[in-house]
Amino acid sequence: MNIIIFGPPGAGKGTQAALIKEAFNLEHLSTGNMFRNAIKNETPVGLKVKSIMDAGNLVSDEIVVEMVDEELKDPKYDKGCIFDGFPRTVAQSEAFDNLLADKGQNVKALIALEVPEEELVRRILSRGQGRTDDTEEGVKNRLKVYHNETAPVLAYYADQGLVKSINGVGTVDEIFDRIKQALG
Ligand code: AMP
Repeated sequence: MNIIIFGPPGAGKGTQAALIKEAFNLEHLSTGNMFRNAIKNETPVGLKVKSIMDAGNLVSDEIVVEMVDEELKDPKYDKGCIFDGFPRTVAQSEAFDNLLADKGQNVKALIALEVPEEELVRRILSRGQGRTDDTEEGVKNRLKVYHNETAPVLAYYADQGLVKSINGVGTVDEIFDRIKQALG
């Protein structure tokens, strides 16, 4: 079972992904975490993406898709995965669908976490994880990039009837209960 957890920065994707992973016995793939690790380890990809990430811009589709493609070769993903922060553009979505189709798999649902914009900014600036892109400017740009480049992913999967919209305001448990209900 492959699930996409989707939403603007600060919507709680990582938190909910961890709970879904446990409850449904899935892997968790976060492209943001993969890039942060690459930067920490100073890999060639890490060196290439650091300034892009710090500015809150998107890494190129080519780099992201290649990284995910490589990662999914690990047989541990055969049981299914929760995808967090990917796909983030329509081009990535198309590439992702093809990639899964080649493995005889598909996307079962896209969970869209809905949170008002003021709440997003407040959450990000107070989460204090020390992320180098969590500056006020970085956050504003990430929201802009979300609206321009990532929001169209929603229409792409809505056309396939796969979108489950979830109210992302409430306690972590309340939101997780809504997700469980939506997944049935
Ligand atoms: P995240 O942890 O998902 O918020 O991602 C942090 C940053 O990593 C983003 O602001 C982008 O710079 C980069 N990134 C993560 N996932 C992707 C993706 N699927 N496509 C492009 N850039 C990404």
